[in-house]
Amino acid sequence: MQAARLYGAGDVRTGECSIPEIGDDEILLKISAAAICGTDLRMIANGYRGVDADHPLTLGHEISGVIAKAGKNVRGYAEGMRAALAPNMGCGICDHCVSGDTHLCESYTAFGINMDGGFAGYVRIPAAAVIQGNVMVLDDSVSLDAAALFEPMSCVFNGQEQARIRLNDDVLIIGAGPIGIMHALLAKAKGARRIFIRDISAPRMRQCTELVEGTVMVESEDLEEAVKSLNGGRLVDVCITACPSAAAQADALKVTGMNGRILFFGGLPAEKDGVVLTTNLIHYRQLSIHGSTRANVRHYREVATMVMAGHLELEKLVSRKYPLKDFADAVAYAKKAEGLKTIITPG
Ligand SMILES: [Zn+2]
Ligand SMILES: [Zn+2]
Repeated sequence: MQAARLYGAGDVRTGECSIPEIGDDEILLKISAAAICGTDLRMIANGYRGVDADHPLTLGHEISGVIAKAGKNVRGYAEGMRAALAPNMGCGICDHCVSGDTHLCESYTAFGINMDGGFAGYVRIPAAAVIQGNVMVLDDSVSLDAAALFEPMSCVFNGQEQARIRLNDDVLIIGAGPIGIMHALLAKAKGARRIFIRDISAPRMRQCTELVEGTVMVESEDLEEAVKSLNGGRLVDVCITACPSAAAQADALKVTGMNGRILFFGGLPAEKDGVVLTTNLIHYRQLSIHGSTRANVRHYREVATMVMAGHLELEKLVSRKYPLKDFADAVAYAKKAEGLKTIITPG
């Protein structure tokens, strides 16, 4: 099979490697689609700890496929089932894992991050992932392309659960990339009243309004005044930063009204996270600020259920598809950030 493997900073190569062998408690998944994520681009640019010429890593953590083989002790899964694969698994015995938050486990592992992932013909799913429920069987209503996007959407789901988005909230999302658009889709599905989108790129904002009906662009320079004038004089109930911008985090406090909630979803570049916030706004407006990282298997399954029930149309976020042999072109395209999600297919 072919695989796109990382050998170090700036060194990713597509080449032939053998189809993984599986044990009696494991599953072999034939990949149908794996989407490129900002994390992949960062790993390619900077390299990753533990990855070098002697220890290459197959990238790709947003994965769907068809079960090619299930080990003889595996229950509940069989050859031919269409499936999506949640990437994060935990040790299984720490307090986080026992609470279901395997993504917060101190010794968490993930496909495409510290074990071989989905930019390949096949991926081996170890016993820990099988018994932690990382394999989500799909019904026929969902495409395998959409299923590859369950992962980023599950991170968005986790974030909105932290920020407790609810019916009739007015929500501002700063950042109109794929993650910002996923936030808009989910906020709408959760019954948000008004959804505002802000980005330094007007075409990206416009794209969001086209993909998520009813979202409103916030264009003028002064964010606070612009939000008020578009929202009947009110600030928003929830502000989500879906971009690596310190200024956006500081602005989020200014545009969020009484008892509001803020979600810092996008991380900042290393050493640029010393952000000055007007903390009196937190105090006098009774604001709460939330962070979120990754997602657990429950988040992943809730997203899958929403997609299969028709509440989230993820497929429209797929901008382009490339075969694995053109992985370098796919990465170059994804880096330009013109489109939304780029999908790699093995064939
Ligand atoms: Zn991702
Ligand atoms: Zn654990």
